[in-house]
Amino acid sequence: MLLTFANVIDNYRHKGLRKKLLKLLEEKGIFDQRVLTAMDNVPRHLFLDNAFLELAYEDKAFPIGEGQTISQPYTVAFQTQLLELEKGMKVLEIGTGSGYQTAVLCEMGCKVYSIERQKKLYDSTRILLEKFNYRCKLYYGDGYAGKKAFAPFDRIIVTCGAPEVPLQLLNQLSIGGIIVIPVGNEVQNMLKLRRTEAGIEEESHGDFRFVPMLQNKNR
Ligand code: SAH
Repeated sequence: MLLTFANVIDNYRHKGLRKKLLKLLEEKGIFDQRVLTAMDNVPRHLFLDNAFLELAYEDKAFPIGEGQTISQPYTVAFQTQLLELEKGMKVLEIGTGSGYQTAVLCEMGCKVYSIERQKKLYDSTRILLEKFNYRCKLYYGDGYAGKKAFAPFDRIIVTCGAPEVPLQLLNQLSIGGIIVIPVGNEVQNMLKLRRTEAGIEEESHGDFRFVPMLQNKNR
């Protein structure tokens, strides 16, 4: 990524910390080099509050305001890997949050549509991603409805815990399309569903903890 504005500093120290984090992710089982390269290209520290600058390259989730969190790097890598992304794919993300996952999807060469229900987060993240020149489409709205006007999507990624798989989202997947979605209340099971001519193929990929996927918009 080209950093084109003055108040952004991505120095050698940050780059070094990022390399270390990527090594850790590989040790934890992330094998898709394209995912690791994309994450190497995104300065995660710039998506966090200044107070957490020093901690940006630890494999941890952090608060991003409005009671929300930026997902743990391992979780971002794991979900992105499960998506089996190819360049040029149309991807819908539910839960823009800090915009970090959005940036990783852009770095993978995808056409990204992302929905956030918290107005303040939507506003601040839109400004941030514009500064980085990421050409994604961001929407303030309720992810349960998806984005029918731009469907079908090749891939859908949900970055908040859904009580169940929203039917509207399944309907907006192309045939052959994949949705990666954490499903459950207290703890979520990472589901990967592939829509085929014959129906839905389901794989389960272990337990994770996300903030809840809530109904409706929130000012
Ligand atoms: N991908 C983000 C994850 C942020 S946490 C990141 O890495 O920073 C999940 C986000 O989902 C929160 O910002 C929350 O406000 C949002 N969210 C919860 N329910 C939603 C819904 N129904 N529609 C859209 N976004 C939702």
